[in-house]
Amino acid sequence: MKHTKDIRNLFPVFKNNPELVYADSAATAQRPHSVIEAVADFEKHGVANIHRGMYKLSEEATQRYEATREKAARFVGATEASCITFTKGTTESINTIAFGFLRNQLQAGDEVIISAMEHHANLIPWQEVCKEKNARLVILPVTDRSELVMDKLPGLFSSKTRFLAITHISNTLGTINPVKEIIRIAHDHEVPVLVDAAQSIAHYPVNVQTLDVDFLVFSAHKMFGPFGVGVLYVNPKYRAKIRPLNFGGGAVRHV
Ligand code: PMP
Repeated sequence: MKHTKDIRNLFPVFKNNPELVYADSAATAQRPHSVIEAVADFEKHGVANIHRGMYKLSEEATQRYEATREKAARFVGATEASCITFTKGTTESINTIAFGFLRNQLQAGDEVIISAMEHHANLIPWQEVCKEKNARLVILPVTDRSELVMDKLPGLFSSKTRFLAITHISNTLGTINPVKEIIRIAHDHEVPVLVDAAQSIAHYPVNVQTLDVDFLVFSAHKMFGPFGVGVLYVNPKYRAKIRPLNFGGGAVRHV
């Protein structure tokens, strides 16, 4: 195990602020040299758009971008790199599933299950989509010991349940939720599950195949990466059912 001093040395912030004790990594993590240098290296090497230029810099940018997608896929145990979509962060990843997937499936009277310990990013998009479709949000309660009331979960499912979204590790309580068991119960009812891994991804093994999760979301900035980058993992069986939130941009083949 590394000495605290060795770990501090990985982060230039501590050289620049020797007295600093940083205890807010749950909000955003400081960046180590390797990340700062990788971002700067790209800028210094020469930037170009990905997927749209037929010259060396652009092709190199595309290769780096796609190599990162492959790395992200391996990191979460995805079977194919195409399961990974880059977004602006966890919040945008969740909104993509709420408005680009669930909105198209929900009917009036349908139900969506979340828990009482969700971050606003994993509450408000579901609240909004339910409001729009006259659907109902069903909330799994939390005990005085900050744990999910798992006994109540099976009873929350009905023939109207269409989706379940749950945090892996709570950002306020630190509770590690039994997401594998939750996914198993939801799948017994043929309900797809989104796991918010914003807090777990940097601290805990997260494998989409072991979990058998349908959608997994997280942000780079909480795992020592830059701001403004998020990951959305989509199980291949749902890929064709997702509409993008933003249209235009990118390289368009046919309009
Ligand atoms: N979910 C959880 C559990 C979080 O802790 C956070 C960030 N605090 C988010 C979602 C939202 O992440 P972002 O702001 O990077 O979209």
